[in-house]
Formats: sequence, structure tokens, C-alpha cells
Amino acid sequence: MLSEFRARLIDKQAEHRLLESMLTLFQQKGWLKARGRQRTDSTHVLAKIRALNRVLCVWETMRAALNSLAVVAPEWLRAHSHPEWVERYGPRSEDSRSPVGEAERVAFAEEIGEQGRELLDAVYDPMAPQWLRHIPAVNVLRQVWVQNYQRVDDVVRWRSSEQIPPPSRYIGSPYDEESHYSKKRSTTWVGYKVHLTESCETHLPLLITHVATTSAPVSDDAMTATIHAELDRKHLLPTKHIVDTGYVDAKLLVESQRDYQIDLVGPTRKNYHWQATLHTGFDVSHFPIDWERQQATCPQGCTSTSWTPAIDNRKNEVIKIKFSTKDCQACPSRSLCTQSSRHTRRTVTIRPQEQYRALMQRREQEGTQAFAQVYAKRAGIEGTLSQGVRMMGLRRSRYIGEAKTHFQHVATAAALNVVRSMAWFDGLPRAQTRRSAFVRLYDVP
Ligand code: SF4
Repeated sequence: MLSEFRARLIDKQAEHRLLESMLTLFQQKGWLKARGRQRTDSTHVLAKIRALNRVLCVWETMRAALNSLAVVAPEWLRAHSHPEWVERYGPRSEDSRSPVGEAERVAFAEEIGEQGRELLDAVYDPMAPQWLRHIPAVNVLRQVWVQNYQRVDDVVRWRSSEQIPPPSRYIGSPYDEESHYSKKRSTTWVGYKVHLTESCETHLPLLITHVATTSAPVSDDAMTATIHAELDRKHLLPTKHIVDTGYVDAKLLVESQRDYQIDLVGPTRKNYHWQATLHTGFDVSHFPIDWERQQATCPQGCTSTSWTPAIDNRKNEVIKIKFSTKDCQACPSRSLCTQSSRHTRRTVTIRPQEQYRALMQRREQEGTQAFAQVYAKRAGIEGTLSQGVRMMGLRRSRYIGEAKTHFQHVATAAALNVVRSMAWFDGLPRAQTRRSAFVRLYDVP
């Protein structure tokens, strides 16, 4: 019954009612206010599957397809499979049952590949019942085979790791095709990511206002605009949205202010060019820009000779500004400007005007006490994620697929709001960020 209930909620996209009806009540009571401060952060979520390497994945995919066909088309499968397959595909795939050594593993994977191809050829034979192609496990088998194998002279060959799709499209398990591999610093996982947004007013309860679930490889900044649009729909937009660097970008600083009058408070990505990190060279801040004339002036007083709009490798709009080879080659400050032996002149890459100004302004603010005070509020969202993880298993999906995992996250957020509003009613003090004995000794905040 519960499973059917969940499926019905998801089917009608009604799972948000769990949280939204609660938020409406909180607003009516005055415990939650629009145009205040909110903060967001994300954490990884493990899918409800076993993480498989590529060989185990194809092995398990073949096994899953055979098991499905054995249930829905037993006679057909008996006629199109081999009894000796039972030994390989009967028990679940295990690394301990696969060969050791690169060449042996590739040969083993190609053997599975040939058997999978035989099965797929039989399913796609014009004489085979058409409905066999629509069995989900068979469809996954076809996709996994396209991703991991190629036909060379009509022989199935194992693709090298450079030839497979990126993690955002690669199917890592036949049991949850929507879960994907990702890596953040030293953490690697297969599954999803959850983004929690909460209010953070001093004298009001801390309440979760929005929950987003994405595939694991989706970057945090890809969600900033979506979170704002959703908060707008709920009439819960903040004036200050406090986030870490992952959610901030020059374009988002401009769009948040322009579209929603939100001050997106978070540090920008560091300028990692050597001129900026060594603090001895001429980084972009040393080049005043004349936007009307579309020209930059370098510290030696030379003006740029070309101004070219382009798209960088992160798909951002940029402008590439180049100086003259003649000026740069004769320049006494050349070693402070460019160390490239390949390029004979300096190139500066900047964002379009509005974004450039927003970025420069934010970099200036980042060093101020006022910014540090507002940004200090962000740390509290770590406690919320921790409460979700420790109290309610937020970091492990209980279900298969992104939609049901999201349902779990919405239900978790609603439960956390109940716990938090009760704690607020009871006057329980909020937990403080822990400080080590050594830090306390010097009374560093
Ligand atoms: S190297 Fe070129 S751009 Fe740099 S300071 Fe010298 S003249 Fe100006």
C-alpha cells in the first residue's frame, strides 16, 4: 500500500505538498518570512544499489535481462539461451569470480559481450515478438552494450575507458540507470545529490524551504537559478541567499539580482592564474577596461589591439582581449605579465561588462569584515545536513530512481521541519559549531 501511495504521489507530482502545505502554515503563523536570509548546501546520496566496476556492470546487466525474460517469456528464452549460461549468470556477479589481469578481464568482458549480442540479436529478430524489445531490462541491456562495446569486423570489442560516455550519461548499474558516478574532492560515490535550502533568522525556527535532488554529477551552480525560481513560485524568495563557492558564478551574481533582487552571498572562485596567486604579476585587475571603446590598458600604458567575444570551456560568455606583439616583445615588464614562451603577447580573458563588474565588486567585498559576518551564517546549513544524515539517513537512498529518491528527501525535510519547530517551541538552545580545545584556548570565533 505504501509503495502504491508513493508511486501515486510521484506520478501526480504531489510529493511537494508534504512540504509546501507545512511552509504555507509556517508563513501564516509568521515563523517563516519571505525576503529574509536563507542558505543552501548539498551533500552526496548513495543510490540503493551495489557500486559496480565496468566488468561487473555488463555481467550483472546480462543477468538482470535473463532474469526478466525468464519471468515474462520463459519458453522464448529457453529456445534462445544456453544451459551453460546458468553457471555464469545464475549467481550474482562477484569480482572474486572474474579473472585477474587486464588482458584476461578484457577477454572475459568480450565473452559476456558476445553472449549479450546473441541475446539482443534474438530479441531484435523480425520474427521475435515485438513486445520483448520493450522489457525494461532488455532496453537497459541494449544501452549498456552500446556504451561498453563496439563492433569491429562483426566482432564485439570492449571499449577503452576513453571511449565510454561521461559519468553523467554512463549507466553504472542495471538496477538504477538514473544513478551516476561522481567525485567531489576525495569523496567518490554512485547515486544522487540533495540540495537543502533553509531560513536562518536569529529569532525564528530554522526551517527547510526547498529540496532539490539531482543526478550526482550535476554541479551546484547548475542548481542556483532553479532554486531561486522555485522559491519565487512559493513566494519565499530571500533577499540574501548565503551559499558556498560552488553555487556562485559571475553570471549568477548578475541574474540573481536582476531577476529576483537576491544578493547571492558567497565567495567567488579564486583567480588561479599565476599573476594573481603570486601577487607579483599583472593579473586582470591591473588592466582598466574602457567598455565603450572595447579596449583595455595595460600597466605599461599600452592599449589592446583586439577584443573578441567567445565562449570558454565551461560554456561561459567571455571576451578575449589581446595586446600587440610589438608592444609586448619590447616591454620591460614582460616577465610580470606573461611567462609563456609560446605566446608572444599578453591575452586577458574577462566576462561581459555586467558580470565583470559584479565579479570585481564581490572580490573586493570578500576581504571585508561585513562580508565575513554575513557569510558566517552559511556554516549552519552543515548542521542541518548532519541532522538529516544522522537522524534520518539522508545520505542513503531507500528507493530506486531519482523521482523516489527525491520523494524521500522531501519527506525527510518535512520531518526535519517538525523536529525543528518543536525544538523551537520547547525553547531548546541551538547546537553551536564545535570548536577544539586549542581553538577555545585562544578564543578564536
Ligand atoms: S607585456 Fe604587453 S600587456 Fe603586458 S605590460 Fe608589457 S606591453 Fe603591456
